[in-house]
Parts: sequence; structure tokens; C-alpha cells
Amino acid sequence: MRSNGGIERFTAEEIGERDGWVCGLCQGPVERAYQHPDPRSPSIDHIRTIASGGTDTRDNVHLTHWGCNHVRNDSTPLRTVEEAEALRAVLLRKPALRPYAEGLTAEDLIRRSQAFHSPERYRAKLARRVERYEREGR
Ligand SMILES: [Zn+2]
Repeated sequence: MRSNGGIERFTAEEIGERDGWVCGLCQGPVERAYQHPDPRSPSIDHIRTIASGGTDTRDNVHLTHWGCNHVRNDSTPLRTVEEAEALRAVLLRKPALRPYAEGLTAEDLIRRSQAFHSPERYRAKLARRVERYEREGR
């Protein structure tokens, strides 16, 4: 994994204790006894992704369900108009996404991003993954 300066060694156990065994994405309880690939198993998520300049350090990670982490993928919630404008500029340069981006303001992008990353949405996605996992073992 590419890193951006800081690298620290830590375990899901340690971060779980620090975060009170609560998932940083869906805000639900994380049970440490579940094991990968159970979507409820504990995992460590980078708050600011390594790809977007985040560090592999304690202050940039939180405990999440593995399933929530997977749903999140590499997407980081937009917090500021500047971040949204930067994303919009990228979208406008891609012919296939240009019409989509032209119809949206930075505020629209922030609203959509926050809806995408809402705890409710993560909870609903996790529930569906758990259901499938219990039925199919994946
Ligand atoms: Zn979760």
C-alpha cells in the first residue's frame, strides 16, 4: 500500500477499544467475535483514503463493520464547497459525466454525498449484506 508519510502499527482490536466498538459509518455496534468475511466483522477504515492523501495513522482511521467499509469503497464524503467544486471540475472534464455535472451545483453535490454517506443508508446496506451472507455464505 502506498503511504503518505505517517505509518503506525495498530490492530482492529486496539481501534475497536478506542472507538467503543461502534461502527464509524453506520453508528451500529460492532461485535468483535465476528470474523471476516462476515459483513459484521470489525475492520479498520481510513477516514481520508490513502489514494486521496490520507495517512496510515491512528488519527486517520476508525472502526467499521467490514460490510460498511466495503460499501464505502474509496468514496469520501464532501464537506466543503471547495471539495465539491474540485470534484465538479473533474466530472466536467469527462464527456460521459459532463451533462450530469452541468446540472448540479456544488451544494447539490454536497447534499448527494451526505445522503450517500448517511448512517441510515449504511445500516440498510449492511442489513442486506448480512441477509445474503447468512443465506449464501458470502
Ligand atoms: Zn457499520
